[in-house]
Amino acid sequence: MSNTAIVHREISIDCGHRVPDHTSKCRSPHGHRYRIIATCCGEILEKDGHSEDGMVIDFGRIKQFMMDVLDGIYDHAFIVSQRDTVLMNMYFPGQVPADVITRYDSELDNQLENYCLALEHGHELKAVSLPMTLISAQDPAGMKIVPVGYTPTVENMAKHMFDLLDRVMRRSFRGDEISLTNIRLYETPNCSVDYPGTQITGPS
Ligand SMILES: [Zn+2]
Repeated sequence: MSNTAIVHREISIDCGHRVPDHTSKCRSPHGHRYRIIATCCGEILEKDGHSEDGMVIDFGRIKQFMMDVLDGIYDHAFIVSQRDTVLMNMYFPGQVPADVITRYDSELDNQLENYCLALEHGHELKAVSLPMTLISAQDPAGMKIVPVGYTPTVENMAKHMFDLLDRVMRRSFRGDEISLTNIRLYETPNCSVDYPGTQITGPS
């Protein structure tokens, strides 16, 4: 009999976006309460006296990764696409959109790498936060704006969230034995997307 199990952990965040080329209501700035469900697969640990004995992974540990990375970046943020010239000009006046994205991604990479190093060395974990240099000059007190290189649909957001969480989980305890296998992202109670990180065979 298999000793492998699949576990799910859910968190919710609030954030805003718009889909600039949408011909209907999604082109207006609006917000959602997003539900994020991370699915992980791995062997059930058998180690007497270990805190995670009998578990694939402690639910609390997945929650911490989701909160430190996904909630840290997205919660109460407004997501702006690089191609959204109207909002890019509003939030980052006088700046080249591609440069804004490059700076943001580079800062995010640094923070994620520091987070992974802290994980590997058992140091205190510090939630990822948005680069202060990118907070709008029009509101230096700090609006939380997330500039991204993609159109912020629920599909693309699920993909981004998968990439971020997968990167952290691979560097954590038993990261080579436990896989993140799916991110399910609900945009509304009735609409959700699965992003499994691997190629899906669609209709031919
Ligand atoms: Zn929407």
